Amino acid sequence: MQNDLKIYNTLHRRKEVFEPINTPHVGMYVCGPTVYGDAHLGHSRPAITFDIVFRYLQELGYKVRYVRNITDVGHLENDADSGEDKIAKKARLEQVEPMEIVQYYSDRYHYDMDLLNIKKPSIEPRASGHIIEQIEMVKKILDSGYAYERNGSVYFNVGAYAEKFPYGELSGRKYEELIENTRELAGQEEKLNSADFALWKKAAPEHIMRWTSPWSEGFPGWHMECSAMSKKYLGNRFDIHGGGMDLMFPHHESEIAQSKAANKGEEPVKYWMHNNMITINGQKMGKSLGNFITLQELFSGNNKILEKAYSPMNIRFFILQAHYRSPLDFSNEALQAAEKGLDKLMAAAELLTKLKPQEKSGFDVDHWIAKCYEAMNDDFNTPILIAHLFEAVRVVNSVNARLETISAHDLEKLQAKFKLFVFDILGLETESENNEQSALLDGVMNTIIELRQQAKHRKDWPTADLIRNELTKLNISLKDTKEGTEWFVDK
Ligand code: ZN
Repeated sequence: MQNDLKIYNTLHRRKEVFEPINTPHVGMYVCGPTVYGDAHLGHSRPAITFDIVFRYLQELGYKVRYVRNITDVGHLENDADSGEDKIAKKARLEQVEPMEIVQYYSDRYHYDMDLLNIKKPSIEPRASGHIIEQIEMVKKILDSGYAYERNGSVYFNVGAYAEKFPYGELSGRKYEELIENTRELAGQEEKLNSADFALWKKAAPEHIMRWTSPWSEGFPGWHMECSAMSKKYLGNRFDIHGGGMDLMFPHHESEIAQSKAANKGEEPVKYWMHNNMITINGQKMGKSLGNFITLQELFSGNNKILEKAYSPMNIRFFILQAHYRSPLDFSNEALQAAEKGLDKLMAAAELLTKLKPQEKSGFDVDHWIAKCYEAMNDDFNTPILIAHLFEAVRVVNSVNARLETISAHDLEKLQAKFKLFVFDILGLETESENNEQSALLDGVMNTIIELRQQAKHRKDWPTADLIRNELTKLNISLKDTKEGTEWFVDK
């Protein structure tokens, strides 16, 4: 497969030509959410970033197997390695089963992702469904000598590993500095070393989520699931591993160490990709800082930080206006500016379908198409692509105002590629497409209105009245105008 795609590989800190291990197949693994609360603004960025990667690789002709996990066990409160399990804690507070928490918040996560028009991954495995695979991998790491057992728990021996392998190769941390800087947390005295991390934890008597293992009744450490599940679905070595920058350490660094220790030193991932974070009015987002915004609050406007509600496409476009490796600051002004830009883009998309061609073109469409691909090939540079799309918007408006002309052949090309980049690759939607249900309702209502028109036409007043009365019961009112009949939902 021929292409010019370059990806910034976080592991090597440089852009590299993308050459999959087994062309045309691409294996991609992205760390998904820990489902103990509603998805927030921070969840939208990795979801959208890797949705773009998924969509663009498919546009280039690759067959992508995209795995995005759901963490439903083992993610502990303190540095993910000690304290209470986040999901078990929520279950205790709400007095329900942990899996009720997992189901509830997974469903809500999926609902939010659908609104943002994120394509579903090929496989969405859950950690709790892969306990056997995780136990098998822990056994392998123990056999190879890079882990030890203490009182029913198993820990990764970072010191032993660092003697053989470049520990810290992804995050740039040094093992020696790590030991000096890692604070000792209560309940961690079982570890040989503060830098070691849990592969398996013996469950305390009150701990609800527990499974039998050769070492104890317990549960896997958080990092284990991604090593075990990526291996199961993508193999020992696969193409792309993604996630937020905040996961580089300790999560991804630990994944590399575990996978190499279990698979005879084989580097698990060819290209590591990390998206940057979203700040809110210049500050890191956090519950304790009082600037925490869930996606549902953004869509409804129901949060004191928000001046108004912002549509899912508004959020999506706002995120795509920055390169995924750049920091992005949220503010009402920035979102409102994005909204205006998106409206212009969508108005041009609509207008483009109605333009009339002329004899000649004053616009080099082929050069424009090449520049659009060039932007995406340069490490998925969506802000540059969007700048090119606005160049096309200018042309569309100018042709519409008869200040410029475009030939039929060029117009056809422009229409096809504008649609490709805006809707298929950037994944933007018009508001009606955005809500399939409302599009469906529109269709049904048009049929009902047509039936009523026909009844009136043949002076069948009982049927016409029946239709109007039945709709009134559903709070739908009709208004007859010269142009036809309009319908409203009464609030
Ligand atoms: Zn992960």
